[in-house]
Amino acid sequence: MKGPDRIQLVEVGPRDGFQPIGPLIPTAQKIDFIERLHAAGLRRMEVTAFVSNTAVPQLADAVEVLHAAQALPGMDAQVLVPNLRHAERAIAAGADHLAFVVSVSEKHNRNNVRRSPLESAQEYSQIVAAQPRGAAMRLNIATAFDCPFDGPIDPEATLALLDHLVEVNIDAEICLCDTTGRVTPDRVSALLDAARRRFPLAKAWAYHGHDTYGLGLANVIAAWSGGIDVIDASFGGLGGCPFAPGATGNVPTEDVIWMFERMGVAAGVDMQKLLPIACAGAALPGASAGGRVREAIAATARSSSS
Ligand code: MG
Repeated sequence: MKGPDRIQLVEVGPRDGFQPIGPLIPTAQKIDFIERLHAAGLRRMEVTAFVSNTAVPQLADAVEVLHAAQALPGMDAQVLVPNLRHAERAIAAGADHLAFVVSVSEKHNRNNVRRSPLESAQEYSQIVAAQPRGAAMRLNIATAFDCPFDGPIDPEATLALLDHLVEVNIDAEICLCDTTGRVTPDRVSALLDAARRRFPLAKAWAYHGHDTYGLGLANVIAAWSGGIDVIDASFGGLGGCPFAPGATGNVPTEDVIWMFERMGVAAGVDMQKLLPIACAGAALPGASAGGRVREAIAATARSSSS
């Protein structure tokens, strides 16, 4: 079991973590979270999404949040976009790192963006063409392993969708997303191996998982062992998916950092600074938090002070 000596974490809490929270988080508080996460060493974040304000009122302040995040030194602020119209809004606001999402599952994609996966793939081509020179692209492949409606996804279906996407922009980073949290480490390894064999020219691969069945870290290790050095995680384990019933939070950033620190794998994040931010995130009204490390460290502190 040996992967890269260094990993890049993409902190997705400000988008994926905040999105399902009902009570509106004040914009200033979101920006404060992003600034503190940046101060803890996180330099890449999915800071918001450009989506329908009526469908997702929590992220209606996307422009303001994006601009505040971009002002931080060395910050790579990516924003999620579901279609061309919202991608154009993001580009107009100055976004220079888009994350386009498309599902392998027809039902999930229609639920999410009311299009077939191939219609989304065509829109992806238009978005790539609309991007300014030098802008970065992340391709989020939702339901790459498992669908909330259809169950396990045939790896060949994921690869077939990628056939329509990879060559559109060979510089895109491709993120295989376990939308439901039901994948197991063997399947993470198998799809990753198959994808890299089929698309040897793809520039970078990433993994996005959930801890719904307690397999979050095991799947991260499977991805890392397979050579993936870009891992999505969310502080406090915040997250969920309104279109994936039963999906709980993302893999918690603090749990990922704790594990990799002990394995000698560098992530550039200061755990002492991260922990109180994760605790504050988990305590947000309406938040659904996850993970073990916050409580384990708090319990250790309680027992050593008693
Ligand atoms: Mg997620």
